[in-house]
Amino acid sequence: MPLPHMSDEQMRTTLKELEQALYNHDQWTETLYGTLICRLAPDERDASQNAHRTCRFGQWYYKSGIAGLERHPGFVEIGIEHERMHQYAASLLRASADGVPISVKDFERFLTALKRMRLEIVTVQREMEGALFNLDPLTGVNNRIEMLTKLREQHEFVRRDHSCSIAMIDLDQFKSVNDSYGHLAGDKVLIDFAHYIVNHLRPYDKIFRYGGEEFLLCLADTPVETAHVIMDRLREELASLPHEAQGKGDFFVTVSVGLAALDAHKSVEVAIDRADKALYVAKTRGRNRVVCWDPSMDEPAAHIGGLP
Ligand code: GH3
Ligand code: MG
Ligand code: MG
Repeated sequence: MPLPHMSDEQMRTTLKELEQALYNHDQWTETLYGTLICRLAPDERDASQNAHRTCRFGQWYYKSGIAGLERHPGFVEIGIEHERMHQYAASLLRASADGVPISVKDFERFLTALKRMRLEIVTVQREMEGALFNLDPLTGVNNRIEMLTKLREQHEFVRRDHSCSIAMIDLDQFKSVNDSYGHLAGDKVLIDFAHYIVNHLRPYDKIFRYGGEEFLLCLADTPVETAHVIMDRLREELASLPHEAQGKGDFFVTVSVGLAALDAHKSVEVAIDRADKALYVAKTRGRNRVVCWDPSMDEPAAHIGGLP
């Protein structure tokens, strides 16, 4: 399961909080060792069943709404390991307070849980850092950095009898949107379109910001005929999204889409090129439409023929 949609800012904040939470937990662990080795009276909270909620890490972890991470499997695992680790720590503290020697087995059980919790935290951190590096700062969707890698992964599936379509989406007359309503309003359209697409994609589809006002969609396990239906519906929905122009009422923006299948016998780059050609034809036929690549588009005349 991928990370939930997060802005750059949310991602950076959560990463910092995770780092701080980890530091707080390291300090807690040092205090725990001190209590055990020096046979000090344990802090009542650490010996309680609720220790995982009352420690500083727990307070952060259970606070509501950490940027929608609550259902992310890695984040859920952190909570499970953290709770388990506290249960073992509580039993060590109780044994120590009662003057009962701590068995090697119990101590190792605690250490294993502690190490697992750290591993889960570091894994989520790495995932977030990777996402941050690969995200387009304006729209929060993937930039092009990992696009070819992801497409090549899909290509491998296509070679094993799966299908995959790629869609090149280009906003229509976007220059005049900027000219009429300002660059900030234009930015807002790009953000709203990107979010709309993300929220309406199937979980295994991928979107990349391909260029300024172009997005590339990778529709996994989807033959091009089905992709055509999906993209035509998306095109209609995007066209009916109202955008606010300060003091000038609402305006609407359409998109043109070029579609092509990933071909088992051709490179990923060929498929991108085909989607690009189909997009070009969609533009020359009047925009606000979806066009599938066909072999006639590879003939030089097809390009020139479409022009006025
Ligand atoms: P067409 O229908 O043929 O695609 O026309 P178009 O005006 O969309 O195409 P053109 O390539 O002439 O212009 C693209 C415009 O997209 C120009 C550029 O300023 C704008 N653009 C690209 N990136 C951004 C961005 O991040 N924010 C905003 N506001 N505008 C952008
Ligand atoms: Mg363009
Ligand atoms: Mg355009």
